Amino acid sequence: MKPNLRLWDYGAPIGSTAIALLLSLWLDPLQDIWSVLTCILISFFLNLLTQAVLFQQLKTELIERKQMETTWKQAKEELENRVAERTAQLLEVNNHLIETVIEQQKKQHILLEQAQLLDLAHDTIITRDLNGVISLWNKGAEYMYGWTKAEAWGQILHTLLKTEFTQPLREIEIELLAKGYWEGELTHVRRDAQLIHVASRWVVQKNSIGKPVKILEINNDITESKRIKDALRVSEERFRQIAENIQAVFWMVDIQNQQTLYVSKAYETIWQRSRESLYQNFSDWLESIHPDDSHYLDISYTSMSTTGKSDVKYRIYRPDGSIRWIRDRAFPVRNELGQVVQIGGISEDITELQKIDEMKNEFISIVSHELRTPLTAIRAALGLLQSGIYDQKPDKFKRMIEIASLDSDRLVRLVNDILDLERLESGRAVLEKIIYPATDLIQQAVAGVNAIAKPQDIHFHIHPTDALVWVEPDAILQTLTNLFSNAIKFSPANSSITVIVQQQSDHVLFQIRDQGRGIPADKLEFIFGRFQQVDATDSRSKGGTGLGLAICRSIIEQHGGQIWSQSIVGVGSTFSFTLPLPPKEMK
Ligand code: ADP
Repeated sequence: MKPNLRLWDYGAPIGSTAIALLLSLWLDPLQDIWSVLTCILISFFLNLLTQAVLFQQLKTELIERKQMETTWKQAKEELENRVAERTAQLLEVNNHLIETVIEQQKKQHILLEQAQLLDLAHDTIITRDLNGVISLWNKGAEYMYGWTKAEAWGQILHTLLKTEFTQPLREIEIELLAKGYWEGELTHVRRDAQLIHVASRWVVQKNSIGKPVKILEINNDITESKRIKDALRVSEERFRQIAENIQAVFWMVDIQNQQTLYVSKAYETIWQRSRESLYQNFSDWLESIHPDDSHYLDISYTSMSTTGKSDVKYRIYRPDGSIRWIRDRAFPVRNELGQVVQIGGISEDITELQKIDEMKNEFISIVSHELRTPLTAIRAALGLLQSGIYDQKPDKFKRMIEIASLDSDRLVRLVNDILDLERLESGRAVLEKIIYPATDLIQQAVAGVNAIAKPQDIHFHIHPTDALVWVEPDAILQTLTNLFSNAIKFSPANSSITVIVQQQSDHVLFQIRDQGRGIPADKLEFIFGRFQQVDATDSRSKGGTGLGLAICRSIIEQHGGQIWSQSIVGVGSTFSFTLPLPPKEMK
């Protein structure tokens, strides 16, 4: 509107001049035109001037107005910018708030879930303040100890549970604060007064400035596992004691991983190699195997890999050059699914057993041979008699009967001697020792053999003695009888046998000296072996079995004495043995 008024203002001088002219002409139509024109001109210029002034004013106003408009526009823009900026800020804050709220909701949800989980957990979860006052007691704690949440809250934990510590509480607390946690075993008493062992883990909870405020305690009942563990430890200890003390080697291997898991101390004694070398190298023991026996090991290894079992005998070379016989038995160790997980075994040094076995085999073959000889003779004699060829020849008939009878006697002697020896060496013969005068034993034995000595004019010279011995009389009589019989058998007619008994410091020495054919020096020890004779014909010509001296040695050794022989061929032999004196307290 205003700019229109201004236009009107600019048109006014022209309009007013025209009106002044018309007015002057209407008042005085005779007026001089020039003066009128002059007047009009003046008026026009005046108006023009006025208009110019007005125009100038208008222009100034317009400029000012424009400036104002610019300022207003700038202010408006500024305001709009600020509004936009503020709106963005508010939007951001709003978004942040929404995020925070969502976050909080999530956290609350998680906390709720965790709280539920704490209750679901089988573990006992408890929190307590630094004074031990319980502030959290989950379902696991209710279940394990028997007190409800309501009953436990506010109570002093270790008073309630009558905690017993395996180390001083002060030490535990120092460790807890230093490390932020502590782990160990505790003993608690449940509501029903039952004692339980728990594995306990404590964790310090700190506030925002890092100050400890609470302790979280998680406990697990290990009573049963501890009982099993203790029982296992006892049984392991027992096993270890047995394994370490038995003379056999007990071993355990993981055959798949070729690893030695355990080997007992006896390995070092038997193999004369270190156990360490076996732990480091599974196959170390194989180096000592006798090359001739290594194929047994291959067979055994195959059987062990498939069934977990094997039973093998082999020889080993030891660093000192000796050879030992080993019996190695393996058995599978299975897991609860029945799968073979390890292999255990026992290796025994059977060298002595092997020797006895060899001797037994040798003994059996000799015995069968010795028994067969008289049996064959008896059978042959009886066969001839049965055939009737000597029916008309009484001398021959009689001779056959004699042979059968002699060989039957020999057979009886043999069987008796074998049985005696077996009884003595098996340890089944228990000696019932008594105090007995040595002279009495000698006289009884001499009386027993006199019947064979007399016909040959062989005389006994017995040196008197009052020595007493600690013996089983029958066994010593058997020994003396055998030695006297031998002396008679191998002595010439009309000779003498001297018997000397001497009491010495810790035993009584018996000596039987004959004047017989003597024994070669290299046979002096040999004749004490089973079925050993100086001359192979002695068994037939002298009726011996070759077992007499073996029986004598066995009897004397069982009395704790010794027996030996000395001889000069062609001059005579002396058989000596010692017997124990009666125990001092029995004299
Ligand atoms: P046996 O006398 O039954 O043959 P022994 O074991 O008693 O068996 O004796 C073994 C061997 O020792 C005899 O066969 C004999 O060769 C020898 N012997 C034993 N005693 C004497 C002895 N007094 N004089 C000579 N040789 C003997």
